[in-house]
Amino acid sequence: MKVDDLLANKELWFVTGSQHLYGPEVIEQVERDARSIVDGLNGDKRIPIKIVPKAVLTSSDAIARMLADAGSSPECIGVIAWMHTFSPAQMWMPGLKTLAKPLLHLHTQHNAEIPWDSIDMDFMNLNQSAHGGREFGFAVTRLGVPRKVVVGHWKEQRVQEQIGAWSTVALAHHDATVGRIARFGDNMRRVAVTEGNKVSARAQFGYSVEGFGVGDLVEYVDAVSDADIDRTVEEYRSEYEIAKGLDKGGERHEALRYAARQEIGIRRFLDEGGFTGFTTSFEVLHGLDQLPGLAPQRLMAQGYGFGAEGDWKTAAFLRTAKVMAIGRSGGTSFMEDYTYHFTGENSSVLGAHMLEICPSIAKGKPRIEIHPLGIGGKSDPVRAVFDGQGGAAVNATMVDLGDRYRMIVNEVDAVAPEKPMPNLPVARVLWKPKPNLEVGAATWILAGGAHHTVYSQAVTREQLIDYARITGVEAVVIDENTTVERFEQELRWNELYYRFNRL
Ligand code: MN
Repeated sequence: MKVDDLLANKELWFVTGSQHLYGPEVIEQVERDARSIVDGLNGDKRIPIKIVPKAVLTSSDAIARMLADAGSSPECIGVIAWMHTFSPAQMWMPGLKTLAKPLLHLHTQHNAEIPWDSIDMDFMNLNQSAHGGREFGFAVTRLGVPRKVVVGHWKEQRVQEQIGAWSTVALAHHDATVGRIARFGDNMRRVAVTEGNKVSARAQFGYSVEGFGVGDLVEYVDAVSDADIDRTVEEYRSEYEIAKGLDKGGERHEALRYAARQEIGIRRFLDEGGFTGFTTSFEVLHGLDQLPGLAPQRLMAQGYGFGAEGDWKTAAFLRTAKVMAIGRSGGTSFMEDYTYHFTGENSSVLGAHMLEICPSIAKGKPRIEIHPLGIGGKSDPVRAVFDGQGGAAVNATMVDLGDRYRMIVNEVDAVAPEKPMPNLPVARVLWKPKPNLEVGAATWILAGGAHHTVYSQAVTREQLIDYARITGVEAVVIDENTTVERFEQELRWNELYYRFNRL
């Protein structure tokens, strides 16, 4: 994924509500105020998507036309609505019923503080968001249209941060609707949670999952030129430490070159086909010399989605998280809860995988090493080994419950390991789940949470919940306030709600 390509030409439309009652002078003022808000928001680098001011809307026809245009515009990825004055909301209902893009209701006012000495009825009639926004909100609720509501003065940092975080969720949603996951091989045999209904995914999120034999990929891998491999090996040498025998002149250097060949071959396959993510399976490697390890690590860092063992749901979810993370600091990776460190209150999880953890979460320079895999019966695979960064993170998963999807989000704190792990040949990160391992793991398991996850220090829980709202899937959060008893009840209530609200 080239981030610039994703952002190119994408827009959020800013629509302002008013009515004819106030006369043309007031409408002109409303339009000027809307433009100054849009200019202010566009000037903030927390909002990476361009916001485009649209006409002030004062009639049912104009609203319906504007929202239909938003729905069919390939550039528009979402609509921000602001009610400067009172805009009778029955006018909005026909348009809202057809709205096909994510909606953010910005409940702000152009003027910040009340001008105590000069305030009069003209001022009051121009600055009516306080009740105009409520009138609009009622209509949106009445129609059951999902939307995010952001409240506060538009110059406040918090408001701009919220709009910015939502803007990349809207982009991630757009990306998922046109997304394609290449599945090399199939699911790891007999594994349950990595499977799911691809048609349901198409209906719910928009992306398609397309299967290929590994032979289709092998052709691309074998066709990579030595010159391209030379260039990629030089990138490795500048970005990472390389274990002695693997580097140029070392007895195992050919294995490193083969890893570079895989990276280039897979990327070409994905780019030529317009794929946004992919899966591999260590059980299906016919024609590949080694299980791709460094290749998915590198491709994840470049923004592609990835899931191991045929896990296309996590591949698609990771890609979505990568897009949400645009413009934010911290890494995002495929992850698996691997082993526990039981020490009572401070018990923690060591997250890792056979090989495939994204270097974007690395603390310091990753080191490229080669070790036997122990399963799969292939040559020893090359991988980048590192410890993850400490600090707050989310660990999230998307599971298929048969008739619907459920997103589960656990807030966690990544912590430094007590001691180095010199004999562990894979990338890893240690974290404490909130509220603690006992409740965090119990609730995760009760919700049916997978062992594969998207782990991120960039994406926030609010962004994940925003995405769930846009796509109409359940989101449950495990945080410092979670108790097993309440969580189990929440699952039951949600079960009922989603039974009545089937896609
Ligand atoms: Mn796994």
